[in-house]
Amino acid sequence: MTFHHVQEFLKTIAPLANISAKELTRLQTPNHAHTATITAGGKTYSAYRVQFNDARGPYKGGIRFHPEVNEEEVKALAFWMTLKTAVADIPFGGGKGGVAVDPKKLTPAELQELSRAYVRAFSSHLGAEKDIPAPDVYTNSQIMAWMLDEYEKLNGNHEPGMITGKPLELGGSLVRDIATALGGVYVLEEAVKKVKVKDRTVAIQGFGNAGMNAALLLQDLGYTIVAVSDSQGGIYNPRGLAIRDVMKTKEKTGSVQNHTEGKRISNDEIIKLNCSVFLPSALSGVITTENAAEVKAKIIVELANGPTTPAADRILHKNGVLVIPDILANAGGVTVSYFEWVQNKYTYYWKEEEIRERLKEKMVNAFSALWTSYEGKKYDFRTATYIHAIQKVLMAEKLRGRV
Ligand code: NAD
Repeated sequence: MTFHHVQEFLKTIAPLANISAKELTRLQTPNHAHTATITAGGKTYSAYRVQFNDARGPYKGGIRFHPEVNEEEVKALAFWMTLKTAVADIPFGGGKGGVAVDPKKLTPAELQELSRAYVRAFSSHLGAEKDIPAPDVYTNSQIMAWMLDEYEKLNGNHEPGMITGKPLELGGSLVRDIATALGGVYVLEEAVKKVKVKDRTVAIQGFGNAGMNAALLLQDLGYTIVAVSDSQGGIYNPRGLAIRDVMKTKEKTGSVQNHTEGKRISNDEIIKLNCSVFLPSALSGVITTENAAEVKAKIIVELANGPTTPAADRILHKNGVLVIPDILANAGGVTVSYFEWVQNKYTYYWKEEEIRERLKEKMVNAFSALWTSYEGKKYDFRTATYIHAIQKVLMAEKLRGRV
């Protein structure tokens, strides 16, 4: 993903959304792209914090630690966060951060040093009312805890709402650990009311936080999970897999493929399986022109970011497959991050049931608003989602007199 893709994407959406040239320039211009060189374990690393758009509220977006992080990618991810917070209808803008580092090569002490150095480099730009980071690829709640501590040390007061995805003990929220999967499940429950499916069979690519939790939640709701996969490959049983047993196999042996009650399949076969619903929940760019025509699912819920290429998307639309795009399908995570921020502001913490209910309300409302903008139009559901999000951001820009 590069920022060039974002610019190309906006060019194609602009005529459909009636966006003027001036508005287009505003939409594709990040407000700030901060860079720094930070040190940990005697080595230096490039660090970024892109604050893309704050028309709808403080910047919001994760920080990733990955060797391939670069400014163009962080800018693109910050743009998508701007659309995601608009789709989820939470009062945030979009931002993203990252450090070009392989965290697996750092000791725990160096990882802590790097996390604190990141906050020192960008602390004047962060804050509960300015810019609120969260975990992303290879960052977690422990890293958020170190970052919060560094920020509070620098500023001399407690401000847990400056970062989300924290441990519960430091002001984190219940449900955050399953929020992405749960949000996707709520949206799917709405989609099956709109699209006729012959049964409730589901295949899931990726068995990590998003995929595994979605498998469990869906099974408990009565769906039949016919296949799951991880980086080593997948397992298929048309009568349904017992997900808790598959979890045990994964824990014991390292892969779902070692589960004996089913047939081994590849990560490409799982995309083309005979099932009603497919949940790509691992990597980007897996549904391509090579396999899109063979997809048999009627509904695709993109828990992963960017799993479908634009050309594959056109094939799926032509074949009548409803694709629920990532910025809606996986928005449960950022929505519960928003709830964490609200709870931090109130210094009053909600029960699990309350959070689930509020998340459901947000996801159902988002789906229903998008369905209204999609129904009867010539374009696909993804395009409707993008147009809806862009128009919300533009409206906020206009009300502020910025365009
Ligand atoms: P994770 O690291 O917990 O799990 C990733 C899973 O994908 C693992 O089971 C891994 O084995 C599997 N995998 C890796 N390579 C694969 C391959 N080639 N084929 C099939 N499976 C493969 O990650 P996660 O948090 O579950 O995130 C998964 C996706 O969801 C990512 O695209 C992420 O950006 C997106 N997402 C996650 C969240 C969240 O809150 N977890 C929020 C928004 C988006």
